Amino acid sequence: MLLVKTIDELREQLKPLARQGKKIGLVPTMGALHNGHGALIKASAAECDVTVVSVFLNPIQFGKNEDLGKYPVRLEADVKLAESMGADYVFAPSVAEMYPDGSPMTTVRDEKLEEMYCGAYRPGHFRGVLTVVSKLFNISGADVAYFGEKDYQQVFMIEKMVRDLNFDIKIVRVPIVREESGLALSSRNEYLSSDEKYKALGIHEGLKKAKIAYSSGERGVAKLRDLVLKSILGNRGIVQYVEIVDRRTLQRCNGLLPDDIPVTILVAAFFGKTRLIDNIEL
Ligand code: AMP
Repeated sequence: MLLVKTIDELREQLKPLARQGKKIGLVPTMGALHNGHGALIKASAAECDVTVVSVFLNPIQFGKNEDLGKYPVRLEADVKLAESMGADYVFAPSVAEMYPDGSPMTTVRDEKLEEMYCGAYRPGHFRGVLTVVSKLFNISGADVAYFGEKDYQQVFMIEKMVRDLNFDIKIVRVPIVREESGLALSSRNEYLSSDEKYKALGIHEGLKKAKIAYSSGERGVAKLRDLVLKSILGNRGIVQYVEIVDRRTLQRCNGLLPDDIPVTILVAAFFGKTRLIDNIEL
């Protein structure tokens, strides 16, 4: 396993492999790796000849008052975890390497989706995500890239970007990895006190209640959303949004859900100062 810090070196490493016809898998991350990232790396290692894990805390996807300054950084442990899951390269560039001119003027946006759901509360976030992911696709020349369904809007927007801009790369979705308790693994879980962590289980519990209600025939969007809201509020969480969306378009559903529409509930909520997201397919 090789740790690479510059774009030139990564290209020097990967280009000959691509020429030999090796299939290159890319797993973009912001570091502080856990088993959720591990599942992505394993999936790539199983399906590709070469697996590259990028570890880059991307400043342009954080808002001014967000947690960029306190986001956990631990490259050495990340390299070990990546290697143990089957990575061949960890690409960990500096901010100056990725953005030599400061914040880039050339960016990638989805003007509609960037304002919805998480985007409504995190202006500029998805523009930062789509821009860095495009750069990583171009730098690595990967054939396949792996993204987690925990960041549901993110993977949807990346798939759409790949179609809209004809990137020659396949996107693979990996299901959410959870703790035994049901809490979705996240680098941000480290911010939670043990009490907050316990209360944060209210998110997944609420989502499960809504799924059970849906399976039993409930089709009212307000009723299904209410089950999630109550479970979060009952655990002293502060809800940012709970929305039921059409999985094919990510458009918001209202009223009564027709049976032939595949739907997912998306949630963002605060426990203490920590913002968590989760989702469940109905
Ligand atoms: P991050 O480092 O938080 O930007 O995440 C990097 C990638 O790991 C993204 O594609 C995430 O969706 C994915 N990921 C993070 N947590 C999980 C999880 N609990 N289960 C599955 N994928 C995850």
